[in-house]
Amino acid sequence: MAQTIPKKTHPFQAFLRRFIQQVALRSKQHNQAAWILETTGSPDAASLKGDLDAEVRLLFNSAATYKKLLLWDKDPHLADPLLRRQLSVLLRAFKQNQIAPALVKEIAQKEAALAQSYANFRPELDNKKLSENDLRELLKKENNPAKRQRAWAASKEIGSKLAPQILELVKLRNTAAKKLGYPDYFQMQLDLQEVDSKWLLQMLEELGVSSDKAYGRALGTIHDSLCQRFQVPVSELGPWAWSDPFCQEDPLDSHGLDELVKNTDIEKASVSFYEKMGIDVKPILARSDMYERPGKNQHAFCIHMDREGDIRTLNNINSSLKWLEVVMHELGHAVYELGFDPKLPWLLREPPHMITTEAMALIAGRQAYQYHPLQVLVGSSAEKNSLFRKADESHQRRQLIFSRWVLVMTAFESELYRDPEQDLNALWWNIVEKYQKIAAPKNRTGCSDWAAKYHIGLAPVYYFSYLLGELFASSIQETLEKLFGSATLSTPKAGKFLQEKLFSPGNRMSWSELVKHVTGAPLSPKAWLKEFAKD
Ligand SMILES: [Zn+2]
Repeated sequence: MAQTIPKKTHPFQAFLRRFIQQVALRSKQHNQAAWILETTGSPDAASLKGDLDAEVRLLFNSAATYKKLLLWDKDPHLADPLLRRQLSVLLRAFKQNQIAPALVKEIAQKEAALAQSYANFRPELDNKKLSENDLRELLKKENNPAKRQRAWAASKEIGSKLAPQILELVKLRNTAAKKLGYPDYFQMQLDLQEVDSKWLLQMLEELGVSSDKAYGRALGTIHDSLCQRFQVPVSELGPWAWSDPFCQEDPLDSHGLDELVKNTDIEKASVSFYEKMGIDVKPILARSDMYERPGKNQHAFCIHMDREGDIRTLNNINSSLKWLEVVMHELGHAVYELGFDPKLPWLLREPPHMITTEAMALIAGRQAYQYHPLQVLVGSSAEKNSLFRKADESHQRRQLIFSRWVLVMTAFESELYRDPEQDLNALWWNIVEKYQKIAAPKNRTGCSDWAAKYHIGLAPVYYFSYLLGELFASSIQETLEKLFGSATLSTPKAGKFLQEKLFSPGNRMSWSELVKHVTGAPLSPKAWLKEFAKD
């Protein structure tokens, strides 16, 4: 009788066991330090987090290990799909750390110096130093066009000051990318994230063309309102007329909408919303930090401490529609993390890319603005009806405005890294005029307006994920509609579908495969266009 030969374990499995043990421990310690830092501002926690950051990164540095991984990658005996996927995750994590330590150090030092310059810079307006918040307040409230123009120009001063530093960084990043065999840093970043750069740029271009009319209409509404407010003809409007210095937010006042949540307990409303999906978020909220406090991070995020279910969110709730959106958004990330198949290996208990977890968070956040879901959240009544409509319209405008901003950033960054020697300010305004349709103010030659955007220097090749998340979010809603006859999220059916299809697989497949797994088709802007850019 033939004996069954026991399956031999592959040396990669033994390596994984040892390696993951170390990574899991360090990353949990890192997250604990991060949580203390973000909830208290403690300098000790900051320095501990910095040390652990470096320790985690060091684990992915070894050239010898990277070589072994490359060999295993060629081994036909390593066939198990889950092992293969873990190998792919590790290969990409190790690859970006195979840059000469001196170059890594130089980039890190330059980034730290740049971050410091951004933090310390205070634009000057009429001989007074202003904080970024002062400036934003002013651009929200000031009605005098001349003063607004001066304020807008002041917000760009930092660009001219920091452009040389940013360009040095761009060149160093390109050097690093070339050492790893890429044409430039933009291409490297996308490849390491499993995003095809040609596909991305082409798809965004098409999205731009197909949403042109709808954006034009939204812009018409905005222009009418701004012309009336500032008593100037359309031809004289410029970026100074918008409330955000980069025109990436809806400039029409939506303050009145906060009326909708006046009597809403935002935590309770969120709990009951997710309950309708069959998901209990109370344990997550019990571990979370929800209200303002001195020393605490003023923004919001979700963190999975240990990949074992200790999931928390940080918020700073006040009675506004924005915070209803934010709490729903962060809980969207949280329920995604909560839903990973517990049998997945540690390394794959994560989303394959920011795109897929953002999609869930964005759908959840949208509920706070969309006509029907908003009524589920805050309770419907006839007198609120016009506000529900206003919230929905403002959300539609926001989608179009934000998409244009992402087109600008992505097109600019791809060109910046392809050829940093070109006239970048001319390039910037060409792109802004093309996509945002906002005319360059006079006398900007010789300035570096592009460099005033924090993300260009310090969070490069990043914005596109949010727009891809929005596209996936719309595709998921369309899929729910096809399957269940309605895009409503707050039903047990929708909850079960998302749990099984979107959350459970974790990182067992790439983000683009996961999109197909959930919607049955590759990621495309179709559903988003249908939702926000109807002709
Ligand atoms: Zn998010």
